[in-house]
Amino acid sequence: MTTNADLTERRIAAIPSALSRHLDVFIARAENAELWDIEGNRYIDFASGIAVTNTGHRHPKVIERVRRQLDCVTHTSFQTTPYADYVTVCERLNDLVPGDFPKKTYLVSTGAEAIENAVKIARAATGRQAFVAFGGAFHGRTLMATTLTGKSVPYKHGFGPLVPDVWHVPYPVAYRGLSSADALAALETLFRTELHPSRVAGIVVEPVQGEGGFNPAPADFLQALRRICDEHGILLIVDEIQTGFARTGRMFAIEHAGIAADLMTLAKGLGGGFPIAAVTGRADVMEKVPPGGIGGTFAGNPLSCAAALAVLDVIAEEKLVERAAVIGERLSATLGQWQRSNAFACIGDVRGLGSMVAFELVHDRDPGRPWPELTKRLTQIAAGRGLVLLSCGVYGNVIRVLAPLTISDALLDEGLSVLRQSLEAALKEMEPV
Ligand code: PMP
Repeated sequence: MTTNADLTERRIAAIPSALSRHLDVFIARAENAELWDIEGNRYIDFASGIAVTNTGHRHPKVIERVRRQLDCVTHTSFQTTPYADYVTVCERLNDLVPGDFPKKTYLVSTGAEAIENAVKIARAATGRQAFVAFGGAFHGRTLMATTLTGKSVPYKHGFGPLVPDVWHVPYPVAYRGLSSADALAALETLFRTELHPSRVAGIVVEPVQGEGGFNPAPADFLQALRRICDEHGILLIVDEIQTGFARTGRMFAIEHAGIAADLMTLAKGLGGGFPIAAVTGRADVMEKVPPGGIGGTFAGNPLSCAAALAVLDVIAEEKLVERAAVIGERLSATLGQWQRSNAFACIGDVRGLGSMVAFELVHDRDPGRPWPELTKRLTQIAAGRGLVLLSCGVYGNVIRVLAPLTISDALLDEGLSVLRQSLEAALKEMEPV
């Protein structure tokens, strides 16, 4: 039998180490919120393939719809020989994305590709060049997405020169003492000192920073960005690649702030495990790009479109928006209780929006002393005990929960109990002997 160790050895020989090696287990099978590796070990999934399987692994409705599609057509390239599902996915996204104005949608394959296209659309629509993004942001790994990202190592450092005319300002993170007012003052200073707002094509923002540490933007901050964009003719580009599709207890996270984006980037959860991404935006903005200005061979692949249509049905039928809010309450209550207990002085903060809940590991409740070593050890110990966890954060010291929204209460509680035991074990290892 091939073991995880065998495959790890082959992987190391065949694949560059630049591709992060989070866990040395190889998955053979997945079902809803559980995974099994090639040795038969079972894992509860608190990662959802990085916020993708919101509807669970291999949801029967998604699989059924994709199976039917396999028997019809798997690829034509929509721009040469179109098919109906692409149109239907776009219509449904135009309806779902917030904004009381006509919208249009364009499909691609990955989050980074959606970001690249949103940037091109914004430049074409405004005739302007500059973009503002935020410290701690993550927008993907292509060159423009890397440029917009706000974390140097490992994402940006060594890959320059990056794209010119991208400016970063701080993102409001209450735990690090940065308020909405601080972040807005920094933007105002940028506009007064370096970058006249009339040069700015777009402000790119995640309503909850994902990789940056599950930092929810206060509603007043997003509302202020909306006002600033309107005042200066800047497009508000909202990256809902990680926050979208019910994850935050709303279909899209900006609904919490009651605002609409001019352009929204979508990916991950839309395909329920199949690669699909989208840019949805104001029809008048989307129409400013001349024919042929955007496109892609695989963009909006028929199998992925079929999956997306099933995913949107499942989110509605199984009320996953409401379910995300319940999961979030359960997670926050449990993690909050741990944080308050003396045993876990390492939990400095518990935060999130809807089911996107995270906790920050620090020494002695001190926000100034992040504890990435404990975080890394915790993810390893948890995997050994059958729980897949992801970390995040500019300091690599945040554990984020991204369980499928279809997870049962029993499995969620089992996962939390493994998490607690693993944290106790990791802390014990860290004690000075
Ligand atoms: N934006 C955000 C907010 C993301 O979380 C990610 C992926 N983690 C991306 C963009 C990039 O998506 P992809 O990996 O599909 O290119």
